[in-house]
Amino acid sequence: MTKRVAIIGGGITGLSCAYYLQQRTAESGDGLRITLIEAEDRLGGKVKTLRRDGFVIERGPDSILKRKPEGLELVEQLGLGADVVTNRTGRSYILKDDALHPIPDGSVMGVPTSLRPLLKSGLLSMDGKARALNDLFIPKLGDFDDLSVGEFFRKRLGDEMVDHLIGPLLSGIYAGDIDQLSLEAALPQFINIEKRYGSLILGLRETMPKRGKSEGQFATLTTGLNAVIDALADALDSEAVSIMTGVEAESFEKDDNGYYIGLSDGTAVEADYVVFAVPHRVAERLIGADFLRRDRVAPDTSVATIAMAFAREDVEMSKDGTGFVVSRREPKAITASTWTHLKWPHTAPEGKALIRCYVGKPNDPGIIEKTDDELVAIAIKEMSGTVAIKGEPDFAVVTRWPLAMPQYPVGHKRWLAEITARLARDFPNVYLAGASYDGVGIPDCIRQARSAAQNITAS
Ligand SMILES: Cc1cc2nc3c(=O)[nH]c(=O)nc-3n(C[C@H](O)[C@H](O)[C@H](O)COP(=O)(O)OP(=O)(O)OC[C@H]3O[C@@H](n4cnc5c(N)ncnc54)[C@H](O)[C@@H]3O)c2cc1C
Repeated sequence: MTKRVAIIGGGITGLSCAYYLQQRTAESGDGLRITLIEAEDRLGGKVKTLRRDGFVIERGPDSILKRKPEGLELVEQLGLGADVVTNRTGRSYILKDDALHPIPDGSVMGVPTSLRPLLKSGLLSMDGKARALNDLFIPKLGDFDDLSVGEFFRKRLGDEMVDHLIGPLLSGIYAGDIDQLSLEAALPQFINIEKRYGSLILGLRETMPKRGKSEGQFATLTTGLNAVIDALADALDSEAVSIMTGVEAESFEKDDNGYYIGLSDGTAVEADYVVFAVPHRVAERLIGADFLRRDRVAPDTSVATIAMAFAREDVEMSKDGTGFVVSRREPKAITASTWTHLKWPHTAPEGKALIRCYVGKPNDPGIIEKTDDELVAIAIKEMSGTVAIKGEPDFAVVTRWPLAMPQYPVGHKRWLAEITARLARDFPNVYLAGASYDGVGIPDCIRQARSAAQNITAS
């Protein structure tokens, strides 16, 4: 019998789920009829590239972490391997007291592995450095299931280390409150290190592979990450997969024949299997089951990216750098600035520079309501002193992402295990996948999509 599968959401999660379903069905010969429902007129969700005047501008994500294999594996399978480039490694800085401080050499997520760079750094006060070194002597924290990232690192390394280094570095991934963020969900490797060694500094020294000349940890496509979305859409066979764009899933019901999804154009899709590849708040509303309701400590964070194109001679910055993140104690709206043409040389044509700034913090949701001109002016003003900007940008592209960065509160993993079990019991053959659940990065989303596809074809 042909299985009817509905996928709600046409971002990287929904599209890669359709792709893996098609692939596995072709291998097994099972019949499968897939309908992918996407509310926007375009596919891709947060993956969105703009190509303009020779620039490659990522409006959402700009890179794929190489260490998590699912991202580049998919890129290879789609035949895009020749377009993959690795980031140029340069110095990354922290902006504190209006000055740029290099991230101390050898640190991992801000945690030092060698003492000399930490001691030489202007980032921490003498007291802050002494407190960080206490990590070598503080006994193990004892048994715990989960803690906030903030609490854990404050206990081991002190407040300065968290506010000036670890917090800003993590904010690029979670854009949330580090004192609410689950350590188990975000940085589980540090729990293992602490339980084994106590000291994070010693534990990292023991466990980190000794690196020679460091290679970039990220990859992207010279054609822009949207090429992955286009290749996925092209790879889907219209005989097996029908893609509906500009149509929102508005209701979800279960009856004896399976599931029934009501759409904004008045039609409906019936399915035996449903994958919710949308943010959790959408899945929660559509499924409407009490057990999915989440008492949120904080809503998902709204962010915006501000990409600015300049003539190269109009901007001056440290040539060995690739950008900076901003200390949590710095009174600024921008949270980071990437010198994109230095990190990814293919993104700007000869003689041009591309700078991308980020705004959006949990306690600053209104920032994305500002006009484009206001956001550009804020970005330029707050960079002055660290990047010398002589002229106006040739053009700027502001992209707002309301409620885009999912927050994983303490206990997130336990919550996920509980709702997954309840879902399997009360809504068999319904799956949740994507950034709200088991990792926010593109490779995490692809892994979850592949796992949902495996579950469907295996059942
Ligand atoms: C500014 C920014 C920078 C980032 N940088 C990186 C990075 O460099 N590297 C990285 O790995 N990750 C990065 N991320 C995270 C990553 O981009 C996302 O986690 C990932 O793209 C999420 O994919 P998704 O398919 O799960 O969700 P989405 O991309 O949000 O897709 C969900 C889709 O569902 C649709 N939808 C919603 N409701 C409905 C409905 N009712 N009916 C039908 N369709 C619906 C939406 O329109 C959307 O297209 C970044 C995110 C942002 C916002």
